[in-house]
Amino acid sequence: MSINRPRGTNDILPGESEKWQAVEALLRTIAAEYGFRELRTPIFEETELFARGVGDTTDIVQKEMYTFDDHGGRSITLRPENTASACRAYLENKLYGAVQPVKLFYIGPMFRYEKPQAGRFRQFHQFGLEIFGTAAAAADAEIIAFAWDLYHRLGIRDLRLRLNSVGCPACRPAYREALQDYFRPYLDRLCPSCRERFFRNPLRILDCKSEICREIGKDAPSIIDYLCEDCSSHFAQVKQLLTAADIPYTLDTRMVRGLDYYTKTAFEIEVAKIGAQAAVCGGGRYDGLIEELGGGHIPGVGFALGIERIFSALASQGDDIETEQNLDVYLVVAGGADAAALAFRVADQLRRAGVSCELDYGEKGFKAQMKAANRLGAAYAAIVGEDEVKADSVTVKNMENGEQAAIPLAEIKQYFLQR
Ligand code: ATP
Ligand code: MG
Repeated sequence: MSINRPRGTNDILPGESEKWQAVEALLRTIAAEYGFRELRTPIFEETELFARGVGDTTDIVQKEMYTFDDHGGRSITLRPENTASACRAYLENKLYGAVQPVKLFYIGPMFRYEKPQAGRFRQFHQFGLEIFGTAAAAADAEIIAFAWDLYHRLGIRDLRLRLNSVGCPACRPAYREALQDYFRPYLDRLCPSCRERFFRNPLRILDCKSEICREIGKDAPSIIDYLCEDCSSHFAQVKQLLTAADIPYTLDTRMVRGLDYYTKTAFEIEVAKIGAQAAVCGGGRYDGLIEELGGGHIPGVGFALGIERIFSALASQGDDIETEQNLDVYLVVAGGADAAALAFRVADQLRRAGVSCELDYGEKGFKAQMKAANRLGAAYAAIVGEDEVKADSVTVKNMENGEQAAIPLAEIKQYFLQR
C-alpha cells in the first residue's frame, strides 16, 4: 500500500511554490515598509504556553492541538498559532528592554486538528504581526491598515472589515452579567458547548457556529453599550483613524473573544465570495496576554492571516498569482565525451555568472534535448557537438525566433550576460 500525506495537509508543488514565494515576498516587502521585523520561533513549544496563551476554554486548546509527550516526558505541542510564542520570545529574550514598541512579523506553518474542508487544513500557513509595548489606538489602526493594504495589493475584491471592541476587565463583568441574564431563559435550548459557556464564558456563546445558538443570540445585548470610558474613547480613536485612511468598516458587536486578556479592538476581514471559510484574517488587542504569560503589564496588538485563504480568495474571483519560470539556457550535447565535457564546462561558467542553465546528463538524444529545452521554456539552446569542440565555440539558438549564431567560447559568458 502506498503512503499518502496526512489528512488536511498539502504538498506545494513546483508551479505552486513559486506563487507562494511571490505572496511571501510581497508580505515581507509590506512588513518592511510598515517597520515590522521578522521573528522566527520554534514550531513546537511547551503545551502550557498555549494552554495559557490561547486559553483553555478555546476550541484550539480543547480539541485542536497536536500534543504529545517527547522522550523526556515533557508535554509538547505543535504551534496552533504564533502569538503566544511571540509573547514568550518577547519575554524570554527581554525585548521589553529595547526601544518600544517592538514590531514583529512571523510567517510559517501552524497545526490544528480540525475537520479538513475547503479552506480549512490541519497544517496551514499564517503570516501575522504583533506590536508589543504600546496601548495607543494608532497601533490598532496601523495593524488594520496593513491588512487592508495587503489584500488590495493582492488584487482581492469584495473585502469586508468587521470591527468591534470587546472591552476590558473593567467593563466586561457587567456585560457578562447582562449576557447571562439574556441567555438564562434559553439555557436548555442552547447547544451543549454553549450551556457550558454560559457559566464559564458567556461571551463565547455569541461566537457559536450552531444555527440555534445564533438565532437565540440575535437580540443579545451589545458590548458597545457596556464599554467603560477608556475603552470607548479608544474605540472612537481607532474608528477615527480608519476613517482618516479611507478604510471602511462594519460594526459587528457579536464578534467577541471571550478571554480576559483580549481587550478593546477586535477585527476580522472577510471576502464575500469564498464561501463558508470567508475570514481571511483576524486580530485585535490583547493587553492582558503578556501578564498572563508571566510578564509585566505590557500591552499588545496583532493579527494573523491564512495564506491558503489568499489563494482561495483569488481563485474565487478567477484570478491567480502570475509567476514566470525563467530558464536562460538549455545546453544541448550533440557529441561524445568531449562535447559533454565542454557543455559541462560552459554550463558551469554560465551558472557561476548568474545565467540559469539546464544540462542533460547524457541520457537524451539531440531531438529529445531540443524538446526539453522547449518544454522548459528556455530562452536559448546552446548546442555543443564535435564541430563546436574543434572550433572552441558554441552554437546558440534563440528559441523564440530560431536565429542561430556561433559564439566563441571566450565570449559566451559576455554574450548571455548582455541579454
Ligand atoms: P475560524 O473561526 O474560521 O476557525 P479562527 O478564529 O480559528 O478561524 P484565527 O485563529 O484567528 O482563526 O486564525 C487567523 C486566520 O488563519 C483565519 O482568519 C484564517 O484565514 C486562517 N486559518 C485559521 N485556521 C485555519 C485552518 N485550519 N486552515 C486554513 N486557514 C486557517
Ligand atoms: Mg478555528
